[in-house]
Amino acid sequence: MDNTNIIKHEHQLSKENRAELKGQKPCVLWFTGLSASGKSTIANALEVRLFELKKHTYLLDGDNIRLGLNTGLGFSDEDRVENIRRIGEVSKLFVESGMIVLTAFISPFMEDRKLVRALLDKDEFIEIFVDTPLNVCEKRDPKGLYVKAREGIIENFTGISSPYEAPIYAEIHIETDKMTLEESVEKIINYLENRGYFNA
Ligand code: ADP
Repeated sequence: MDNTNIIKHEHQLSKENRAELKGQKPCVLWFTGLSASGKSTIANALEVRLFELKKHTYLLDGDNIRLGLNTGLGFSDEDRVENIRRIGEVSKLFVESGMIVLTAFISPFMEDRKLVRALLDKDEFIEIFVDTPLNVCEKRDPKGLYVKAREGIIENFTGISSPYEAPIYAEIHIETDKMTLEESVEKIINYLENRGYFNA
């Protein structure tokens, strides 16, 4: 596409102005992990906790993205890449608006997560590895997806018929087979407080 005549308009208000008004340092809390590892459960509980602390948040997840902005994208490698790229761009816009963004997507490819990290400033991308063993996820199977994947009814299912590239370095490491939901939320809140994302 020819972008020659698209010129970025400088806004009078900056990200810093918007963040200051909200009393927080905007960032993206990027949850990654297998299906049923606990991404949505932890992200939801964390968002409630942040709300109680009067922080301004927005949670991006499958419902508001796959059913809206990314309708029409499937689960081929190519579509997964585009899915994450768009989520990254939307996250960046939310960060510009001063928000603490939570995203709960499998995001199985290291390269894609790296691309999103590169879109943001230093310390704005916080990768949270929800590290739950495949056998535990499969036993939980809250949506019955693993059963269908094993039967071949669902193709390209992460962990079964499509790869999951675990982060080598993630800012926060959560092991849901060893930690309660409350402990996981606490660990993330402590990380944010200790690094000055807000004062509780
Ligand atoms: P994902 O978003 O990663 O696909 P979900 O959050 O939808 O995963 O599902 C995780 C399931 O695991 C839920 O049914 C949740 O109740 C259960 N679960 C059990 N123990 C934990 C824990 N310690 N942390 C998070 N989820 C847990």
